[in-house]
Amino acid sequence: MATKTKTVKYVYSFGGGKADGNESMKNLLGGKGANLAEMAGHPKLRLPVPPGYTLTTEVCTHYYQNKKKYPAQLAAQAEKALAAVEKEMGKKFGDPINPLLVSVRSGARKSMPGMMETVLDIGLNEKTIEGVIQQSGDARFAYDAYRRLIMMYADVVMEKAGGIEPKGGKGIRKVLDEKLEKVKHTKGYQFDTDITVDELKALVKDFKATIIKVLGKPFPEDPQEQLWGSIGAVFSSWMGKRAIEYRRIENIPDEWGTAVNVQAMVFGNMGDTSATGVAFTRNPGNGENKFYGEYLLNAQGEDVVAGIRTPAPVNDYSKNDQSKHLPTLQEIMPKVYKELFDIQKRLEVHYKDMQDIEFTIEKGTLYMLQCRVGKRNGVAAVRIASDMYNSKLIDAKTAVKRVAPNQLVELLLPMLDPEVQKVTKAIAKGLPAGPGGAKGRVVFSSNDAVEWASRGEKVILVREETSPEDVDGMHKSQAILTTKGGMTSHAALVARGWGKCCIVGCTDIEIHSETKSFKANDGTYIKEGDWLSLDGTKGLVYLGSMALVDIDLDKNLAYKNLMKLVDKVKVMGVRTNAETPGDAMQGFKFGAEGIGLFRTEHMFYGEGSDEPLFLLRKMIVSKTEKERREALNGLFKYVKKDIKETLEVMNGHPVTIRLLDPPLHEFVPHDKEKLKQLSKELGISMSILNRRVLALHENNPMLGHRGVRLGVSYPEITEMQIRAIFEATVELIKKGKKAMPEIMIPVTCGKHELSHQRAIVNTVYKETCEKMGVKKIPYLYGTMIEIPRAALKANSMAEEADFFSFGTNDLTQMSFGFSRDDIGGFLPKYLDLKLLPSDPFQTIDQSGVGELIKIGVERGRITKPNLKIGICGEHGGDPESVVFCHRIGMNYVSCSPFRVPIARLAAAHAAIDFPRKELKK
Ligand code: PEP
Ligand code: MG
Repeated sequence: MATKTKTVKYVYSFGGGKADGNESMKNLLGGKGANLAEMAGHPKLRLPVPPGYTLTTEVCTHYYQNKKKYPAQLAAQAEKALAAVEKEMGKKFGDPINPLLVSVRSGARKSMPGMMETVLDIGLNEKTIEGVIQQSGDARFAYDAYRRLIMMYADVVMEKAGGIEPKGGKGIRKVLDEKLEKVKHTKGYQFDTDITVDELKALVKDFKATIIKVLGKPFPEDPQEQLWGSIGAVFSSWMGKRAIEYRRIENIPDEWGTAVNVQAMVFGNMGDTSATGVAFTRNPGNGENKFYGEYLLNAQGEDVVAGIRTPAPVNDYSKNDQSKHLPTLQEIMPKVYKELFDIQKRLEVHYKDMQDIEFTIEKGTLYMLQCRVGKRNGVAAVRIASDMYNSKLIDAKTAVKRVAPNQLVELLLPMLDPEVQKVTKAIAKGLPAGPGGAKGRVVFSSNDAVEWASRGEKVILVREETSPEDVDGMHKSQAILTTKGGMTSHAALVARGWGKCCIVGCTDIEIHSETKSFKANDGTYIKEGDWLSLDGTKGLVYLGSMALVDIDLDKNLAYKNLMKLVDKVKVMGVRTNAETPGDAMQGFKFGAEGIGLFRTEHMFYGEGSDEPLFLLRKMIVSKTEKERREALNGLFKYVKKDIKETLEVMNGHPVTIRLLDPPLHEFVPHDKEKLKQLSKELGISMSILNRRVLALHENNPMLGHRGVRLGVSYPEITEMQIRAIFEATVELIKKGKKAMPEIMIPVTCGKHELSHQRAIVNTVYKETCEKMGVKKIPYLYGTMIEIPRAALKANSMAEEADFFSFGTNDLTQMSFGFSRDDIGGFLPKYLDLKLLPSDPFQTIDQSGVGELIKIGVERGRITKPNLKIGICGEHGGDPESVVFCHRIGMNYVSCSPFRVPIARLAAAHAAIDFPRKELKK
């Protein structure tokens, strides 16, 4: 029986008030294609979109799976779609009298600004150009378009997609560009627009001859060959180096593929009633609800994004220091501006989100070329979500989902110290493209940024403008500073997407690449390696390394509003890890609902630690219980004070106090003076002391005498700590305060250790009640689960525990057998070779370590269905890991104070994406 080939729709048309696709089809049509379809065809929009068609992402996938061959049905479908465009435009592709010109652009599911190729003005050749001249009445315009096509085509299709390695690293585009520059130079022209039609004609001729010479093939005259060559080049660019690099950074899978959009050309470069521009329905820099955009008169397509000329503002609101003298679109084309303004309003209401739009005005007629959800920095994301919720455009859950947890980092970002700023003169000013403060040492190339950063240097990348080739270096830099371009230039778009401090269009400085230096207008001379400080919120550049300070979140009403919604939506609790009462306070301010890990050993480090550290050392090198008890008695008051202050700050919110964990030898002094003092205090000779110190040495301290093992060997250490906890609690309660300690035993591997320590707790409990004249003291008793065996034995462990807290730092270390302190030596290679998807100490390895956690949760709750379970390893502040913790039913996560808002938001996202019944926190 003959098999019938299934018809697959590979081509989707749009234009003329209708469209085959719509906005929901992003996976198939790519973001650009889906939105073009929506704008053109949705009954509520039907916007003036030049007609065109989209070749689906399935074509791309097929192309790569079949040795770069297209599906058999594609050609016929594309031909039909092109015919529809011709009909709509009343022009014919390749026709010498009335020719249609088209553009070919990429469009992946997620926007990848500038990463893939575009070819414009396709369809121009020696014959059709006559038609274009006739139709437009403008020979200069026609030849300008022609030379652009030839340049783009030679570069994108013939050289890059053709796999030709440019000789001496100089690509064909550069070779042709130099010819153009030479004409300008010899004639003394400032702008491309000064070149005359005859000069353009000569350039076209010269370009064609050069292409044959350099690339060994002629520029194709056949419009169909141009069209399919361009389509192939866009598909090829999906696997180009910079697109792959960008996808790595943005976590976009290679399998998605890109769609290709073929669209009738409209021209923003047909004289002074034509223009092209980019705009946002709200300010993407701070989220203000104001229409914000830039345009260039008499310019084509990518000129705005390329940052070649300083764009003019669409309205007064969009003016900045560089553009304030330029006429606004509202002034020079009030009718078109009004139409554009109305369209952007409709688009925002339709999409219920801030939109980034591209438009072209051809001889006074407005065309919409693109709309997509606008990238915004964290500050703007929070403001927009909060404002849209307040104006009832979106509901609470949508508002919460509009901000990515890691975007909040920007709101917590330090800024340059305003006090220091007040008394420091900026050396230059540019456009504030990415907020926050940053400081670093100046480098002038992306490669240098990558190299310096790999040596641990903090760098600021300074460039005239950035291009997609620079993304790696931009990513590795603290901040980016460019001398050209506007708020929609490549640098601004990319930095905004990442929430990175960025200043663009800083015309106050002039870069001298040969000497790796720049000079500011005020005469300041900066060379590679010098320190700069940037205020990305105001666009100010300072010489030297300026202090950074934290910002006051209490003043950010939008943030407060959003976080209220977050707390309503989330079901998991979020606590903070704290080492000091100060940390506890900071975490509490950020919204922590308790402390999930109080590491008591902090009191032995840093400021004020001399006395307790000395006492601890005395205890460590003690030989007899009597000696040890003496030292512990001295330590008691410090431990109690720290615990009391922390319990007081948290005012009745639970505080998980972990008993002493690290291996004791970590605290042994190495310098002679300290050892002498110790021997004197203990009344023993130096040689005896040295022997005791030597005896503490372990080959594998991480697996050695630490955690609960210390409490088992020296019960008096546990006893002292428990006494401090109980007495602190009672004293607070007696003062009318609230206190809720949770005693946590670290590094356990079985139930019996817990029973052993519990006996001590019970004894001290009784003693304290009697001593302090109280009947009961509130507390919980629990354990960390940070050894694989503990997870496996969770059912019996739960018999002795009121709660579990997963210590995923140690659990990861012990599951992988990777030392948490030494992983840096081999992790980069593992990530490079994709042997690991990410650093397992940052994001929980869900399929391995995660299985152990799941087992721990399940088995623990078999014994105690209401067992309280949390996590206190570093993963507690990682959004992906937070979602995992939610999914497996944890009650809370705990993380460092500055990650608390991020964890709260991640927990809310998890609750929306994976609803579960309300849990007790
Ligand atoms: C852990 O192991 O995950 C943990 C929180 O404890 P520490 O990092 O102090 O070992
Ligand atoms: Mg641990």
